[in-house]
Amino acid sequence: MTQPLLDLRGLVKRYGGLVATDHLDLAVQAGHTHAIIGPNGAGKTTLIQQIAGGLRPNEGRITFDGDDITRLPMHQRVRRGLARSYQITNIFKSCSVVDNLALAIQARSGTSMRFWRPAIADSAIFDEARELADTVGLGTRVDSIASNLAHGEQRQLEVGLAMATRPRMLLLDEPMAGMGHGESLQLVELITRLRGTVTILLIEHDMEAVFQLAEQISVLVSGRIIASGSADEIRHNADVKKAYLGDEVAP
Ligand code: ATP
Repeated sequence: MTQPLLDLRGLVKRYGGLVATDHLDLAVQAGHTHAIIGPNGAGKTTLIQQIAGGLRPNEGRITFDGDDITRLPMHQRVRRGLARSYQITNIFKSCSVVDNLALAIQARSGTSMRFWRPAIADSAIFDEARELADTVGLGTRVDSIASNLAHGEQRQLEVGLAMATRPRMLLLDEPMAGMGHGESLQLVELITRLRGTVTILLIEHDMEAVFQLAEQISVLVSGRIIASGSADEIRHNADVKKAYLGDEVAP
């Protein structure tokens, strides 16, 4: 068995008397799109915040690419290749799509570009920004001001900003939240395009999207993973049906 890219062992997070993450183990293999699903209040946000570095676990260990990152601050995790896509909050609303992406690329490559003459460095950054805009489906919107983008397009830009850090793993926290059906489909398409180029850990309520995208699904209930497996295995798992999916999926 190959070493997982992300490995969580015995993770515990308490809020006073409430155990939001309860001795949780999870392994995410490199190259996979792995989804975490679970009912409201199961502890999904608490979990992803501990992985991203926004919350410190009370117990347990987080290993990324073989290194213990449990106590590393968020920016150092980003530098190691662990990027989280925030919901819209990272975008400079008055800047264009290409400028937003160029700023994110420059933030990543600031020191490595120092040896280049500014004009050459600039054009390399903008070339990469346009390419990234294409990748996230905003190729025809590069000059649009971010505040004029539709909600779904802003989510696409957010994913682009995370990809600008050239992550090895992308954390997506409910990317479909608040989206219409058409917008969700676009995002599913985008995530499908990214699969294979980056390992993805996806937290999502939209079951249709999860079953379509994830080759591995883990079900979180009351801070514990009660089942992990393929979409088919999860669909037919009796514990999962009882605890979460209920009648949502066809037998
Ligand atoms: P949802 O799907 O509704 O967003 P979730 O699966 O993301 O839920 P969390 O938000 O991680 O779940 O919450 C897990 C549990 O921890 C819940 O019972 C919640 O009320 C509690 N909780 C979350 N944040 C805090 C906090 N800062 N202080 C105290 N309790 C908290």
